[in-house]
Amino acid sequence: MTRDGGAFGPLFALLEGMGRGVFHVFLPVSCPVCGALGYELCPGCAVGLLTNGGSVLLDLGGSWLPVHHGGLHRGTLRDVIHRLKYKGLSSLGVPLGEALGEVFGPMGRGLVPVPLHVGSRRGYNQSELIARGISSVWGVPVADYLRWRVRVGNQVSSGDRVLPRGAMEWTGPPMDGLVLVDDVLTSGATLRAAVEALKAGSCGTEGALVLSLAKSFGGSGV
Ligand SMILES: [Zn+2]
Repeated sequence: MTRDGGAFGPLFALLEGMGRGVFHVFLPVSCPVCGALGYELCPGCAVGLLTNGGSVLLDLGGSWLPVHHGGLHRGTLRDVIHRLKYKGLSSLGVPLGEALGEVFGPMGRGLVPVPLHVGSRRGYNQSELIARGISSVWGVPVADYLRWRVRVGNQVSSGDRVLPRGAMEWTGPPMDGLVLVDDVLTSGATLRAAVEALKAGSCGTEGALVLSLAKSFGGSGV
């Protein structure tokens, strides 16, 4: 099938205009980095995408939380995360988590995904999928017990630095050595709220792991 023309030209133009999410249905999936067919993102490229990161310290007001990230939120890594979050490509979540698990060594005794926002229509929690991928590599269990108590919409991702106290709650038993998992570290407000909720639930947080770090984040490097 060619895309250049004939009677189907206008149809292809329309489909392309509607975005890759629709066009994708008509073409075989391929890795956006190397083009390998049959992968939303092939394992080798997933690891390669996440090897330009490091660790930063998130100011918790009196203590610091180490946050490990796979790279800056830009370029192909940003595109892939957008597909996972906004284009419905949930199948990217576990492979990205597995790659993050390959890049960073095992840590903690439980992986806690940042929960999906109240009222979200996404249908899956990308942070939980990432945590499941990491878990399969490290053998550390997923402890999916964190919940939002307030409706915050997209404020957090758009960079709000303050969330109301008690924005999240821990619904599980007291646990120690927990590692938070999220997609992007933007302002740090979400992770701060998560740490506060874990503390209120008699849990200890050892650090956090995210796919990417927003350039706007003002934390200090380790
Ligand atoms: Zn590839």
